[in-house]
Amino acid sequence: MVDLTGLPVLDVHCHPFLDQGPLDVDEFVTQSAFGGGTQRYMEDGGIPFTAGIQKEVQRNKRDTIYFRRMMLNLAAFFDIEPEPEAVVAARNAAIAKGYTEYVRRLFDAVGLTTLVVDFCYPLPMHEIAQVRAELPAEIIPVFRIEPLIVDLLDAKVGWSEFRRLYDEAITTALGSGGFKGLKSVIAYRTGLDVSPLSRSPDQGLLALDAIHRGLGGGTKKLRDHLLCRAMELCIEHDVPIQIHTGMGDYEVNLVLSRPAYLMDLLRFPAFRACKVLLVHTGYPFHGEAGYMANVLPRVYCDVSEGVPFAGHGAARIFREVLEMAPISKVVYGSDGFRVPEINFTSAMVGKEALGRVLNDLVAEGMLREADAQAAAGMILAANARELYRLD
Ligand SMILES: [Zn+2]
Repeated sequence: MVDLTGLPVLDVHCHPFLDQGPLDVDEFVTQSAFGGGTQRYMEDGGIPFTAGIQKEVQRNKRDTIYFRRMMLNLAAFFDIEPEPEAVVAARNAAIAKGYTEYVRRLFDAVGLTTLVVDFCYPLPMHEIAQVRAELPAEIIPVFRIEPLIVDLLDAKVGWSEFRRLYDEAITTALGSGGFKGLKSVIAYRTGLDVSPLSRSPDQGLLALDAIHRGLGGGTKKLRDHLLCRAMELCIEHDVPIQIHTGMGDYEVNLVLSRPAYLMDLLRFPAFRACKVLLVHTGYPFHGEAGYMANVLPRVYCDVSEGVPFAGHGAARIFREVLEMAPISKVVYGSDGFRVPEINFTSAMVGKEALGRVLNDLVAEGMLREADAQAAAGMILAANARELYRLD
């Protein structure tokens, strides 16, 4: 039997969080569940957030298989009943005795040692030093390009200044800023159908000019150019870029988030040197991402978000991604945010699902047991350590 219990885990994609003190039950559910709606979402749609609507939203959040599983894991951790009220009371009591110590117990229970953290969600940015001080894990920050683009657009500068400031901010982030790579959420903005020919600085100039003159079409052209430029800078600095693919918050452009839209860009000769992590492995289009990690030598699949939020789908995701992706190109992640219980649940779900899939592959005669055991260590931590050059 392949045994994953003692293996260390590197979480390749998550977001920073700090001690918020005790949370009431609804607030904990809101922060730890995926989707289900928010007060702002309803009110922006003209729906008053009455007690009845709040109950409806809470029920959406508590009724996912993922959330029920998190309750089971936390109840086992605290040795209590798997009811949200009891679980939240237990975590609040543990936090009152010391936040960092509580997070350490959670992380130790699943072997979580390292977090690669996208610091640009939530905004305003948490201080990296403060996150390092509060979280008992190795923290590897990555820098998201979209907030920088918004700042530069707000600055209303001309193209040569825009381009200089963009390059300078990224170069500083990857140098003295201590960031170990970049991240893009262009799938949330204008979509992944980025032409590699957008790399021409002339496109940036024309696009910014169109934006300043209020003409149509400039925004997509500018964002496409700036993603190309970010990839060039990643090649120069020999760091990976994480690109969001597939599902996300409700704002995502789900149609244009399919990994396959990135094919033209990633196979373009000038970008073949760039190491690209397909964040969320394009779930629910994860088969496409697995294929791309096969044919494109520097493309990787990060299973975060599907693991843990797709609940029992975790095993299917690992199994289907591994149909085409080399074992050395699949990396574990959670997309955890705001509370440490997500990272904890995800590592538990991820280890269990990966273990089940690898054991099945051994039983099917696809892998020797020793190779499956090695694959577990690679997917849970070693592949990402190599990608981010952490040793
Ligand atoms: Zn994320």
